[in-house]
Amino acid sequence: MFQLDDTQRAFESAVRAWCKKELAPNVPALESGELLPYELLRKLGLDLGLAELLGQMAERRLGVLRSAGSGAESGRGNSAGASLADDPMLTSLLLKEISRVSPGFGMVFIATLGCGMAILGQGSAETVERCALPVLRFEKIGAWALTEPGAGSDAFGSMRTTAVLERDTLVLNGQKTFISNAPYADVFAIYARVAGSPDASPDDRPVRAIVVERGTPGLDTGPPMRKMGMHDSPTGEIFLRDCRVPAGNLIGSLAASRNARGAAALDTLNQERAAMPAMCLGIIERCVEESTRYAAEREQFGRPIAEFQGVSFKLARMELALENARNLVAKLAWAQREGRLDARLAALAKLYCSEQAVRVSLDAIQIHGGAGYLAELPLEKLMRDAKMFEIGGGTSEMQLQTIARSILERSHQG
Ligand SMILES: Cc1cc2nc3c(=O)[nH]c(=O)nc-3n(C[C@H](O)[C@H](O)[C@H](O)COP(=O)(O)OP(=O)(O)OC[C@H]3O[C@@H](n4cnc5c(N)ncnc54)[C@H](O)[C@@H]3O)c2cc1C
Repeated sequence: MFQLDDTQRAFESAVRAWCKKELAPNVPALESGELLPYELLRKLGLDLGLAELLGQMAERRLGVLRSAGSGAESGRGNSAGASLADDPMLTSLLLKEISRVSPGFGMVFIATLGCGMAILGQGSAETVERCALPVLRFEKIGAWALTEPGAGSDAFGSMRTTAVLERDTLVLNGQKTFISNAPYADVFAIYARVAGSPDASPDDRPVRAIVVERGTPGLDTGPPMRKMGMHDSPTGEIFLRDCRVPAGNLIGSLAASRNARGAAALDTLNQERAAMPAMCLGIIERCVEESTRYAAEREQFGRPIAEFQGVSFKLARMELALENARNLVAKLAWAQREGRLDARLAALAKLYCSEQAVRVSLDAIQIHGGAGYLAELPLEKLMRDAKMFEIGGGTSEMQLQTIARSILERSHQG
């Protein structure tokens, strides 16, 4: 049977205590937009030692890049790029605990981490030092930008944003949308079709990420978008009009594996998909706890509502979802640690956990009756935030497509 070890349990308790003291009291102000999440993000990084840990990771990578002489040519990042620390379960526990209180705040965290890790994995020594290091130390805010107005589920095939190499400069044009942290980010990892020369053919424009810093002429961002949930996670657009950055801001090499359609972007997507189940688990766990307690206490018709089968069967199904989600999150952490995370597993876990987070949070509201509908309880926020996980990082339909494709490939192979 899977069990957390002592280190993992101690870390989980430390994060829970931090969230109770620092995050929970600020959720109303974060939800109303009165307070931006970034000071709190910095505090999380400092208080829990994450800024130091991630900073050390980035410095180690920097040492490797410097000794190799050139970042862009020195290949993929080491496994440091794959997880928060040596134990991916710690990242999952961190995200689970945050999401018990505010999945939106978890989005702010994974968006900044996704940007920092993308640069760390394949950026040059200069971009790692100037951009990844401060992002991973939470001194700067990061954003990771793939989606465009006309390119969502078909993010790679329909991508219109371009970056054209003119001598030692990349010139970016295009638009990104639904980007977490975009309205306030300092550093952007922006995906574009990169042309090695202005006359490069459409087939010779591989998708790559490029680092763009706020303040670069030609880069603009829109205001935070109004959304159904995740109010504490600012989301917005990015506009690129003849935005010129040094060629060294390209993440990865243009020459290497030209045919790979944004392999690095897919890596980051898989990492994001692997992070989201832990966030959904946080929602499910909190809903089960709140509902079980409420059903045992709340009396109608002279007895606790938990004694009515209509309520207790809901609780039983919620418990089943909790058990399954826990197992999937543990398996994901194992796969990441063993270097065996693949698109199928990431998609399975994201699909299941996001669907259950929506269902369980709706059931939790139902069990609480009118009280569940009130903003005073955490349930309605958890439900609104849960819905995002069926869309962001690839919709449920795209996860089904990935899973189906992988099982069909397997059957063809053998
Ligand atoms: C709060 C929030 C934060 C986000 N943060 C980021 C971010 O930081 N960075 C980033 O790059 N993106 C981000 N996204 C974007 C997100 O990844 C996209 O919204 C998502 O991939 C879906 O794209 P779309 O919205 O264009 O929907 P579409 O692709 O237009 O899909 C619309 C519907 O059609 C369905 N559909 C499409 N194609 C098929 C098909 N072949 N078969 C069956 N059904 C299909 C979809 O499943 C969906 O139901 C964020 C989104 C949200 C809501």
